[in-house]
Amino acid sequence: MKVPLLDLKAQYQSIKSEIRPCIDEICESQYFILGPHVEQMEAKLAAYCNVPYAVGVSSGTDALLIALMAAGIGPGDRVITSPYTFFATAGAIARLGAVPVFVDIEPTTYNLDVHGLAETLEKMNAGRRATVKAVIPVHLYGQCAEMGLLMDICRRYRLTVIEDAAQAIGAEYQGQRAGTMGDLGCFSFFPSKNLGAFGDAGLVTAQSKELDDRLRMLRVHGMEPKYYHQIIGGNFRIDALQAAVVAIKLDHLDEWTSGRRQNAATYRQLFKAAGLEDRVILPAEVQSRHIYNQFVVRVSGQRDGLKDFLGQQGVGTEVYYPVPLHLQACFADLGYGRGDFPEAERAAEETLALPIYPELTQEQLSYVVDCITAFFDR
Ligand SMILES: *Cc1c(COP(=O)(O)O)cnc(C)c1O
Repeated sequence: MKVPLLDLKAQYQSIKSEIRPCIDEICESQYFILGPHVEQMEAKLAAYCNVPYAVGVSSGTDALLIALMAAGIGPGDRVITSPYTFFATAGAIARLGAVPVFVDIEPTTYNLDVHGLAETLEKMNAGRRATVKAVIPVHLYGQCAEMGLLMDICRRYRLTVIEDAAQAIGAEYQGQRAGTMGDLGCFSFFPSKNLGAFGDAGLVTAQSKELDDRLRMLRVHGMEPKYYHQIIGGNFRIDALQAAVVAIKLDHLDEWTSGRRQNAATYRQLFKAAGLEDRVILPAEVQSRHIYNQFVVRVSGQRDGLKDFLGQQGVGTEVYYPVPLHLQACFADLGYGRGDFPEAERAAEETLALPIYPELTQEQLSYVVDCITAFFDR
C-alpha cells in the first residue's frame, strides 16, 4: 500500500468544479494582481480568523518580513523567537539587520517555552533588554503556543507580538484564533499548508488601522499615492488567481480540519491498541483546537531507522526540522553552539511527521501503524 505524506490531487478533484470557472473568469478579465478577488479573500479571511484587518501578500515568508517592517524592526533591534521552526521565521528578522534571539522550546508541544522567554528577558541587562523589540511565537504543526502568558510577558516589556501562524490557520487558544492574539499574525498559503494556494501566497492580520495602512503601503513599495513613496517597502503583492483559490478553499477548511482531527484521534486509538505508547510519543494536544497541519511523533534513538523503514513500505514521512536554527551555518555569527537549546536539539533528532491529510482512509492509517509495529518487532 502507498501512503504519501500528502496527496493534493484528491483535494483538487473534490473542488475542481468550483475552481475552474473562477480561474477562467480571471483569465478573461486579464486582471492578475491585487484587485477585487484579493479584497474578497482578505475580507473572508479576516472574518474567518475574527480579526479586524487582513492583508494578502506574496508568501508566508514575505508576511513575516512585511510584519516586522510594519512593526518598525530594523538594524540593531533584537527579536526573540524559537530555534525550532522553519527557517523563514528567523531569516526575516536577520534580513532586516535585526538580531534573532532564540529561546528553547517546550518538549511536549515543541512551541516556545514562555517561562524560558520570561527568564531570558529577566537575565538581560537593561541596555540589551532595551534593544529587544518584538517576539515571534510560532504555532508549530498547527497548535497555538501558550499565548496567555506570552502576551502578559510581552505587554510587561512593551514588546510587539508577531504570531507566525503559517502552520496554524483555524487553530485556537482558549477560543481565540491563531494570528489574532498578538499585534500582527502571519500566514502562509504554500500549497502543502493546510490551506494552500496554487503557488506562493500569504497573509498578514493586524489589530489596528495604523498597522493595516502601513502593511498596505509597504506591500506596494511604500507608495501612496501612485509614484510618491512615503516609506521604503517592496513588492509583496498577491496574485488574483492565488487569492481566488484561497477564498474558495476557505469554505472547505473546517471540514478538512475535522478530517485531520479525526485522523489524529484514529491514530491515537491505533497506537494504543498496538501497545506502542512507550516507543512512540504522540503529539500532546494541550490547546483547544489543534488543526494538525502536521502529526509529529517522537521516537527516541531510532527515528532515522524508522523513517527509512517506512519509506521502504511506501509510507511517506518528513523530518521537520533536522537542524535547529541556532546551529544553521548562516547563523554561526550569532555565537550559539550545540547544547544551548537542548530541547530544540533533541526534537530535531527525534521527531517524525506522519501522513495526516484529510482524505486518508482508515485502511491507510491502520497500515501506517502496522508498519511502525513491524519496525519495532523486527
Ligand atoms: C511555511 C512556513 C513559513 C514560510 O511560508 P512560505 O509561504 O513558504 O514563504 C514560515 N514559517 C513557518 C512556521 C512555516 O511553516
